[in-house]
Amino acid sequence: MRKALSTKSVISKIAIAMTDKCSASCEMCCFKCSPEGKNTLSTDFMKDVILQASKINGIQSIGFTGGDPFMVFDQLLECSAYAHSLGLRVSVNTNGFWGKNEKRAFELVGKLKEAGVESMSFSADHIHQEYVPIADLKMAMRAVTAHNMLLDVTIMETSTSENIVRMTEALRPEIYQSSIANHPMLPAGNALEKVKEGEFIRYFASKAAYCPFFGMASLNFDGNYYMCCSQFCREIPPLNLGSAHEVKLADLDRRISSNDYLYVMLRRGLSWYVDLAGQLGYEIPQYLCSPCHCCYYVFRNEKLLDEIKETVKNEAGRLRVSHLLGN
Ligand code: SF4
Ligand code: SF4
Repeated sequence: MRKALSTKSVISKIAIAMTDKCSASCEMCCFKCSPEGKNTLSTDFMKDVILQASKINGIQSIGFTGGDPFMVFDQLLECSAYAHSLGLRVSVNTNGFWGKNEKRAFELVGKLKEAGVESMSFSADHIHQEYVPIADLKMAMRAVTAHNMLLDVTIMETSTSENIVRMTEALRPEIYQSSIANHPMLPAGNALEKVKEGEFIRYFASKAAYCPFFGMASLNFDGNYYMCCSQFCREIPPLNLGSAHEVKLADLDRRISSNDYLYVMLRRGLSWYVDLAGQLGYEIPQYLCSPCHCCYYVFRNEKLLDEIKETVKNEAGRLRVSHLLGN
């Protein structure tokens, strides 16, 4: 049963990073997750957020991520069933480490299916596979398709990895049932400290940068809401929308639209900021790894933000008036 709708939100999905615990400790992990992770949201806290989400028109789905949500499987199961009972669609991100044993893998996925989980996303690349053997990942994928659930695979590349070629080959035939997303490794979190600069593929022209926000806000295991679920979100101060212990989910729309920096970014694009920064003598590299990488360059530069504050405020005012006039 889908939930009844009332007023419309720009946010359509909430990604909940339940924990920073993970079976792996990937050298490029944006949130620095590992088996030693100590930050896990409580079930009651997540259920409260899920209940709030179910009452907001426009929010249709919840995605559980981490770390790896299978590290807190009982909580994952309970929160998935709760979200499903409230009419929300449910998806789960995992590295597939639990695919080691066929019987166990089918049992776990069966429980999630019964709880209402519709789709599962896997990560596959040379770094994840240092921790999760291909055979285990394939078994996990097989369990998902055997339960008629949607499956997608995200394959990350570096300048030397050629992962898209190697992984699609290695994951045949299980990958035939999946949607595949391919993106370059981003210099966020661990990657910034541990990966050699030459491994990052800088192909994206900052002059053309836009925000690819498509309505997915996130609740992180640190207890804060973020405007998006980008790998950079915790490193870009304006994207922190406040503690979920204090801020109601229904207030996130207002927090986004009342922030002049975000308001202008969503309407004029990041390229507007890149031009402005250039005019003031700030150097934004001509090519970056993604639009979010550009966002990181612009919005974590406090000196730049301070210098352009008035210009941004005026532009936001102009855009709001224009919007009221129906332009
Ligand atoms: S599997 Fe994902 S969450 Fe876990 S350490 Fe690797 S990148 Fe981080
Ligand atoms: S451009 Fe910035 S706000 Fe937009 S999705 Fe990327 S990190 Fe988030």
